[in-house]
Amino acid sequence: MAEVESFKLDHTKVKAPYVRLAGRFLTPRGDVVEKYDLRLAQPNREALATAPLHTLEHLLAGLIRDQLPGVIDLSPMGCRTGFYLTVLGPLSPERVLEAFRRALEGVLLAEKIPGASEKECGNHQDHDLQGAKAWAQRVLEAGLRLQESVYL
Ligand SMILES: [Zn+2]
Repeated sequence: MAEVESFKLDHTKVKAPYVRLAGRFLTPRGDVVEKYDLRLAQPNREALATAPLHTLEHLLAGLIRDQLPGVIDLSPMGCRTGFYLTVLGPLSPERVLEAFRRALEGVLLAEKIPGASEKECGNHQDHDLQGAKAWAQRVLEAGLRLQESVYL
């Protein structure tokens, strides 16, 4: 099978919450695409419950696009410890960290969950706005840091 970057990351050597540049790709036409690892919870120590993670996904989808140009996608990790952000780059980890911090501040101000009706979402009952805010608060209080890639 093809090699996968995240399977080579030593998850015991990182310290959440953090922002990490997980990949930079050059398309045949010369465009730069970057993938960032936005980690909220310490791997193998804790994980977000699905409802707050899902609500954070809905809120951050818009909030991160308000902060950064060229956002292609922001998706939760299956291990429920963070998100992957894919952007048209080049940006920088510092700029993404600041954007993520501001987006999390936006979460604290949210009064409703965007796109959370049965027509708009694939699991619209699995949401938790207060839980999402609690995680945002916790990450902001802990302070996001830049994480280097530490490989196995
Ligand atoms: Zn949804």
